[in-house]
Amino acid sequence: MERMLVKDHLRCPVSNELKLPPLPFARPDIGIGEERAAVEVLRTGWLTTGPKCREFESAFSEYIGCTHSLTVNSCTAGLHLALEACGVGPGDLVITTPYTFTATAEVVRYLGAEVSFCDVNEQTRNIDPQSLQQVLENSRDIKVIMPVHFAGLACDMKQIMELANQYDCKVIEDAAHALPCSSDGRMIGTIADATAFSFYATKTLSTGEGGMVTTADDELAARIKKMRLHGIDRDVFDRYRGSKPSWYYEIVQAGFKYNMTDLAAAIGIVQLSRIEEMRSRREDIANHYSDAFSRLPIELPPPPPVGDLHAWHLYVIGVYPELSGMGRDDFIVSLAELGIGSSVHFIPLHIQPYWRDRYSLEPTAFPKAMSAYRKAVSLPIYSSMTDADVERVIHAVKTTLSGKGSKS
Ligand SMILES: *Cc1c(COP(=O)(O)O)cnc(C)c1O
Repeated sequence: MERMLVKDHLRCPVSNELKLPPLPFARPDIGIGEERAAVEVLRTGWLTTGPKCREFESAFSEYIGCTHSLTVNSCTAGLHLALEACGVGPGDLVITTPYTFTATAEVVRYLGAEVSFCDVNEQTRNIDPQSLQQVLENSRDIKVIMPVHFAGLACDMKQIMELANQYDCKVIEDAAHALPCSSDGRMIGTIADATAFSFYATKTLSTGEGGMVTTADDELAARIKKMRLHGIDRDVFDRYRGSKPSWYYEIVQAGFKYNMTDLAAAIGIVQLSRIEEMRSRREDIANHYSDAFSRLPIELPPPPPVGDLHAWHLYVIGVYPELSGMGRDDFIVSLAELGIGSSVHFIPLHIQPYWRDRYSLEPTAFPKAMSAYRKAVSLPIYSSMTDADVERVIHAVKTTLSGKGSKS
């Protein structure tokens, strides 16, 4: 009798909930393979850029199907290098959307160029081609378009590349969310002039910090290669290697210190070998959420077009009073009380003090971005989540919304 009571007590969902540690919003999926690879590199005595970076680059090129892959120490560094290689400088304009992380836009300022923002599609939160065309139409100095594949759903690259062609601009993609991801059957990383991926701790492939630039353009690749490591000219280095001593090198530019470590690359190689398995797990979680939430008074993230890959870096729902019976901020507080971490992607750049003041932007300047922001909640979605973790999130969302909203 006593034993049964104890058992019943353990089964009680409320007490279970109280005992579980909070579920983090994001968590890298690092296994024994990554651990072994890291230890192996530590034992070789070669920690900085070396054979592991080269191996990571060839494996990445093969996976994406691109010509050049270049390791860097962040996506931000990759975007900066790509813009620099395209010759962006003072007097130039670069278009992106305010619905992104500040890294996308700040690299434009590093080079003394200016950012021109344009609005997004409210559902996908990706750059709106119509809005893009308007900005292109109204300015002569646009040098580069920087699309951001929000959450891992591709922008309409066909339209963007056509517009870039028509207005004679380059396209550099912020693919921080987009590994792996495709647009119209083509892998992101093979379409634009250059593409920058992120291997930051929360991203779909993680090396702690890190990034990769892909391009099919030999000249861009050569410039990026030179500038990512202090402007050392490798070609000169290689050319004279026969006749000059091994300590000889030539500096041809004031370059940057953006190289990846072999320690990061070794972890990256193992992560890349698991990328399909990890993506498939995130897709299952996304599908499971969308089924479970289909009758709830919230907006669900749009699925990818048939045949295209969604990286599902983020699963963003829309919660707002008119639909849900409660506001986004209260919803997040309630999830936290139920032990579920969540986040908001993104606070639009045009309401951030720096960008607002630099370009005198009103909150109303980008109405779609604002309305997407006001309702955005990113739920946990990562390949190391267990089925029980996923059920906990669903339970917390349903509990929070129970009795609220227009559809319930
Ligand atoms: C994470 C992120 C970045 C920056 O990536 P880092 O590797 O940390 O430099 C850039 N853009 C977007 C949209 C991101 O989410």
